[in-house]
Amino acid sequence: MPTVLGFEGSANKIGVGVVRDGKVLANPRRTYVTPPGTGFLPGDTARHHRAVILDLLQEAMTEAGLTSKDIDCIAYTKGPGMGAPLVSVAVVARTVAQLWNKPLLGVNHCIGHIEMGCLITGATNPTVLYVSGGNTQVIAYSEHRYRIFGETIDIAVGNCLDRFARVLKISNDPSPGYNIEQMAKRGKKLLELPYTVKGMDVSFSGILSFIEDAAQRMLATGECTPEDLCFSLQETVFAMLVEITERAMAHCGSQEALVVGGVGCNIRLQEMMETMCQERGARLFATDERFCIDNGAMIAQAGWEMFRAGHRTPLSDSGVTQRYRTDEVEVTWRD
Ligand code: MG
Repeated sequence: MPTVLGFEGSANKIGVGVVRDGKVLANPRRTYVTPPGTGFLPGDTARHHRAVILDLLQEAMTEAGLTSKDIDCIAYTKGPGMGAPLVSVAVVARTVAQLWNKPLLGVNHCIGHIEMGCLITGATNPTVLYVSGGNTQVIAYSEHRYRIFGETIDIAVGNCLDRFARVLKISNDPSPGYNIEQMAKRGKKLLELPYTVKGMDVSFSGILSFIEDAAQRMLATGECTPEDLCFSLQETVFAMLVEITERAMAHCGSQEALVVGGVGCNIRLQEMMETMCQERGARLFATDERFCIDNGAMIAQAGWEMFRAGHRTPLSDSGVTQRYRTDEVEVTWRD
């Protein structure tokens, strides 16, 4: 019964989770929130993570009711993500592993999302839509890799939403995407925006530029409300994501769709995915913000699978990497 401690801090969330054989024993998390109109910068975010990580570790161990003796492995996010936050967390994971004399495991962040989504929802072989502030990918498992069928060719969908929120000075608390979602519910007018699907891939930077310009102009003339803009942006970018997920499902003959990542807890996106799945006779699996948004337990869960399959990360190789593609990891724990 391996028990794995997981550290996550690749962006503005810092989390420490404990997982034992499919049970999440603890999963505390903090979010670095910046003032409206601003984003989070790597150095400031790393400073935030360094300030709270030991408190979080204490909190996780207390909540799980465990001591260091009960932990079998220390998992941490190796990448992808922002450099300085990744380093700040890896240093702590490495130190704890040495102090407690435990094996270390560097985990691919995207695979953490997939394994956590499967654990929580019970999906067995889903086509995965992974959507967040830093990532946008459609993924399916085949022959010992999580293969990327489609992805953004520029910015992530969550980055498009976050940056649009800055233009409208929408609060970043609890997250810009959550506040856009609430405003979108009051939108009445669907504005035509660029729709950019290229085969299995999507692009969001042009849509962002377009709506940034349109926002200033149309709000000044009263042609639309901020709520209309939120509504139109969500409807457009989510339709693109549903389209590429459906294409991947058709290609794979998949009967399961799983949506993970911070944008994955958006209820409107889940509704649109649900409609698509129902029309195909497929099932949609989704989780709530505890497990969708970056957290420590997801790194512990992927670490648990890897640990049982015999993976270990030697200290000499326990660095981080900002670019670490989902399909770089050999998935030896699945048939
Ligand atoms: Mg993520």
